[in-house]
Amino acid sequence: MTKFLPVLLGTLLLCGCASEAQHPSLASAQPTPASVATVAADDNLNAVAWTQTALEHDLIYQETFRSAQSQLLAALKDRNWDALPAEDRSTPYKHLKPAVILDIDETVLDNSPYQARLIRKGGEFNEADWAAWCKEERARALPGAVEFTQFAARHGIAVFYISNRAQDLDAATLDNLRKAGLPVSGPEAFLGLGTLLPGCDQVGTEKSCRRQLIGQHHRVLMQLGDQLGDFLSVLTNTAAGRVQAMAPYKDWIGTRWFVFPNPTYGSWEPSLFNNEWSTPREQRRQQKIQALRVE
Ligand SMILES: [Mg+2]
Repeated sequence: MTKFLPVLLGTLLLCGCASEAQHPSLASAQPTPASVATVAADDNLNAVAWTQTALEHDLIYQETFRSAQSQLLAALKDRNWDALPAEDRSTPYKHLKPAVILDIDETVLDNSPYQARLIRKGGEFNEADWAAWCKEERARALPGAVEFTQFAARHGIAVFYISNRAQDLDAATLDNLRKAGLPVSGPEAFLGLGTLLPGCDQVGTEKSCRRQLIGQHHRVLMQLGDQLGDFLSVLTNTAAGRVQAMAPYKDWIGTRWFVFPNPTYGSWEPSLFNNEWSTPREQRRQQKIQALRVE
């Protein structure tokens, strides 16, 4: 993953009254102020709770993977079909072997337990305990991921995983993918940060070079991910820059590119505070509040 975006810890206390005002029908389910008075607010609590407990979350993953699967064989048959953005496609692809490209974190593997641990201990993302979580190799497959990838593999479509997990996590990641039931043809199926394409300038954690590497020998039928960067390079991570990057490919959503929801972290968040993670937590929070639309 690019970077687990730090969980913001607000200093405000949880208060049922705001939620009650927005959702009167849920008033009886609101905790009393006295019962939560000692619990510090955490901006990521609702997002992680939704991810882990809302059936809607699972249904969205299932419907997205099923939609992709229902279109996969038609894409396989159509030799004019390719899902790499123009910037990453330099090799003629009509007669290349078919492949699909998937992101790993929050696309096929569910790392929400890691974030749940952060919330419980009041911590923020850091590389050391993220690596420790990855090395536990206990992330579960997200709903529909195994069925889709196994379907692709059964039909002779190479399954590639591009992830920004650090190079020292390669072995643990491959093991976790296999344990979760996802097809792994070999170590080359996983392209982590340590996978370089000679002659291609790796810009930060952008995945462009790795997409190009796959594209040299494969026609890419579909890409699936939870971040814009899983599909194309976003050169300017602002609200306008993100829209501009995606504009040429809007028609590919739901046909060549399939996007999963991630309310817990992602490049959308720092775009709200000028990508300045060094900004104090409370100031970042204020900038996010300022970014809210009220009409
Ligand atoms: Mg991801």
